[in-house]
Amino acid sequence: MKLKDKVALVTGGSRGIGRGVALALAREGASLVACARSLNEAHLVAEEAKGLGVDAIAVKADVGHPDEVAALIQACLDRFDRLDILVNNAGITKDTLLVRMKDEDWEQVLAVNLSGAFYCIRAALKPMLKQRSGRIINITSVVGVMGNVGQANYVASKAGLIGLTKAAAREVASRGITVNAIAPGFIATDMTGSLHEDLRLSILARIPLGRFGTPEDVAACVCFLSSEEAGYITGQVIHINGGMWM
Ligand code: NAP
Repeated sequence: MKLKDKVALVTGGSRGIGRGVALALAREGASLVACARSLNEAHLVAEEAKGLGVDAIAVKADVGHPDEVAALIQACLDRFDRLDILVNNAGITKDTLLVRMKDEDWEQVLAVNLSGAFYCIRAALKPMLKQRSGRIINITSVVGVMGNVGQANYVASKAGLIGLTKAAAREVASRGITVNAIAPGFIATDMTGSLHEDLRLSILARIPLGRFGTPEDVAACVCFLSSEEAGYITGQVIHINGGMWM
């Protein structure tokens, strides 16, 4: 129960990595705000967290809209009166080759994955600066460092998120707030579930540890970065990829 008395907000906390992160933080004792566009799914995670003995709410919000993000942070403050841990996890893909990429494919992915994190950080910093403490953890991706064919929009958003992490980390370090990024490799979720079997096997062949990652692999690192013990770590990108990129 390392995170007892802490309040955590997880965007995209209804499925996949975000669900795993939300429940792991709850297991460590943190009160939880689970956010997604689909309230029903986020609600199920909040109920599951309550079953672990913490207080939890679900909030419907599209992080790509600053007004909805402002309302999301306000809902957290109305219920818990503070915010200690922000996990910017909400993300989407719209994969296609560059020459076929439509303006909206580019804009939507940047709006959710990068602008969404910016809106959340900006709004979350108000209570965190007042508290003079906080943990911000941005879920980027290994492809934000490696690049990838057919994902120029996604890769740009994830590389941008790494830059945002470092700039924010420098800006708020003196106020006791740390900002880090986690770059997962291939994690088995809905996002990767639709990939063709041949592609999945070729990716698996490039993972030295010989398996795909799980949401729990990522969640364990989020819990550590959220803890007091990680207080001297900021502006870093932690890779969780089974060794597929070193
Ligand atoms: P996922 O299974 O597709 O889940 C995405 C989550 O984000 C859902 O809860 C979804 O709920 C929410 N979401 C999507 N758009 C949103 C928006 N505009 N506003 C609020 N919530 C939104 O994805 P995942 O695989 O768990 O990925 C989670 C994060 O890890 C993403 O940022 C992804 O880029 C990153 N990542 C994943 C992998 C991987 O291999 N899976 C690897 C590297 C990085 P709603 O649809 O209801 O909104």
